[in-house]
Amino acid sequence: MSETIQFRRRHFPGVSAREWNDWKWQLRNRLDTPQRLSRILDLTAPERDALTRPRRTLPLAITPYYASLIDPHDSTDPLRRTMIPTVSELTRTDGECDDPLGEDAHSPVEGIVHTYPDKVLFLATDFCATYCRYCTRSRVVGGGELPPAESRWETGLRYIEQHAEIRDVLISGGDPLTLADSKLDWLLSRLRAIPHVQIIRMGTKIPAVLPQRITPALAKILSRCKPFWLSVHFTHPHELTREAGTACARLADAGIPLMNQTVLLAGVNATIATMLELNQGLLRFRVKPYYLHQCDAVTGTSHFRTTIETGLRIIDGLHGHTTGYAVPMYMLDAPGGGGKIPLSPDYIVSRQSGTVTVRNREGKHYTYHEGTARSPSDLAPSV
Ligand SMILES: *Cc1c(COP(=O)(O)O)cnc(C)c1O
Repeated sequence: MSETIQFRRRHFPGVSAREWNDWKWQLRNRLDTPQRLSRILDLTAPERDALTRPRRTLPLAITPYYASLIDPHDSTDPLRRTMIPTVSELTRTDGECDDPLGEDAHSPVEGIVHTYPDKVLFLATDFCATYCRYCTRSRVVGGGELPPAESRWETGLRYIEQHAEIRDVLISGGDPLTLADSKLDWLLSRLRAIPHVQIIRMGTKIPAVLPQRITPALAKILSRCKPFWLSVHFTHPHELTREAGTACARLADAGIPLMNQTVLLAGVNATIATMLELNQGLLRFRVKPYYLHQCDAVTGTSHFRTTIETGLRIIDGLHGHTTGYAVPMYMLDAPGGGGKIPLSPDYIVSRQSGTVTVRNREGKHYTYHEGTARSPSDLAPSV
């Protein structure tokens, strides 16, 4: 019997498999108070302390399904660390702020973030099925400021309609897949009707935390607005369950390309072995590991943030072990709205005139002789 079934029988006796697999039941029965949580997990003193103090921003909520993946007796369980508040999140350290990416300064109208010329973020809702403690948008998420109302969306849609340079809309939030089918269908149809919007993308953690939401009806709605790409958010191999696999298969079978964005998190996934297992597992789910984000310097996240050196070593380790398909790009989002900057281990040992010396994964050096063709002047990107 799967651990999820045991968990259901133990903590939700009388709840049928049918109810458990209904995503709306999962949302109605979220663990969102210290009392409900303590019935399921042995809370530690730092967790209990954090839960009883008034929280400034990000609420507590976990779906029963996702809670079933957490070891109730192990305070170092990786998924637990991402979901259960602890006192560390109440301290602010050097360089931290509530809006580290300067998104608010790049918001021309409510719910739109326009940082790059050709793409916008469309914040469809502030609601999530579960709240990740390291959230970049914890200043708005879960606070009710961005309700998923068509009247509010109209402002953002008008902005996109009036800006013909926008060819790429990334629907985010909050988690847009918490919206009802009819609302999603409405929003996607409206975006699809804008001639200059070439691709529609969506960012979501739903396949990891509420895979029951990925119904055949939903897959159909999403597949109707192609080209449509989905960015999912898996952080640890424990999330790669049978249920999550079914959800990803349903999306992939509907012709939706799946890309994973993960965040490098100390005590969760910041080892080569864990990243290897996660990324190889994702490939089996037909999900391409896309970005490994250096954790943004959001207030109260210092216990999650590793050094950049750790991230570089992990990327180097992945290159040495496995297919390039399983190696994401390691990205630092520059504080203050500077945008994403790719970070890479340095494989170039030295450059001479006409030759470059590089190192391989074993540290051996090789010298490559460059050709005689020189860079054309138009190699520089036009801004
Ligand atoms: C990360 C981000 C995107 C999406 O980035 P891609 O590199 O296009 O996947 C878009 N807008 C903003 C403001 C972002 O921070």
